[in-house]
Amino acid sequence: MPELPEVETTRLKIEPYLLGQRLLRLEHDAPHRYQNTHLASGRTVTRLTRRGKYLLLHLQDPGEDDLELIVHLGMTGGFRFAATPHTRVTLHLESGEPLYFQDARRFGRVAVVQPGVYPGMPTLSGMGPEPLSGGFSERAFVEAVAGGGKMIKPWLLSQVPVAGVGNIYADESLWAARIHPAQTRLKPAEVRRLYTAIRATMQAAVEAGGSTLSDGSYQQPDGVDGGFQTRHNVYDRAGQPCTRCGTEVVKMVLAQRGTHFCPKCQTLKDRL
Ligand SMILES: [Zn+2]
Repeated sequence: MPELPEVETTRLKIEPYLLGQRLLRLEHDAPHRYQNTHLASGRTVTRLTRRGKYLLLHLQDPGEDDLELIVHLGMTGGFRFAATPHTRVTLHLESGEPLYFQDARRFGRVAVVQPGVYPGMPTLSGMGPEPLSGGFSERAFVEAVAGGGKMIKPWLLSQVPVAGVGNIYADESLWAARIHPAQTRLKPAEVRRLYTAIRATMQAAVEAGGSTLSDGSYQQPDGVDGGFQTRHNVYDRAGQPCTRCGTEVVKMVLAQRGTHFCPKCQTLKDRL
């Protein structure tokens, strides 16, 4: 599933195609799935931003209120510069070069809403700070995470303490910070390590163009794979040696998610 680095890579690549362009119309194969997309027709894309794992196209029409076209890539969604067998939505642009949204498994979402009004998208409304922004404060993160009774990995996946962290980058960041994914009651020093690890991991993954896993579902819009999958330390590496200590990486299921960690570097500490 695309996480912050994959969505940000997508944003950077499609921005030159969209910025300042008028959307002539959106053509889709299942209208009931894609809410209010007809409202986008004739509007100009003035900005393309990202919030967590959501892409937001800001749409303007002179004399009308602004609107936002929200895209969530779901499990297998992605933009492409060429049509594919799984094209679901085609954005016809004034430039004459369409942009295609493909989604094999159809968990993705495309909807036009009023700016900041996200009905049925509680994750987006309640999302924490962007990890690579100045708004992500170490002190606030320590306050939000340390001492609490919540298990750290599911808490990260909730998007509340920080935005955009999904299964891959939660496992990688926890490994870098040497914290067990099921740990509760983290010490402030551990949370500070995690803060640094999340920022460093996200930054490196964005620079590498995200992670393309063995299912190949995520690719960049030009069909090129991401480059970060070869730099994973634990994710999808069960049975292989930890790159830090050589112990075999373990995979377990935690809160219904496949979870990878090093049992030597990331011990579960009993804290009541
Ligand atoms: Zn290790």
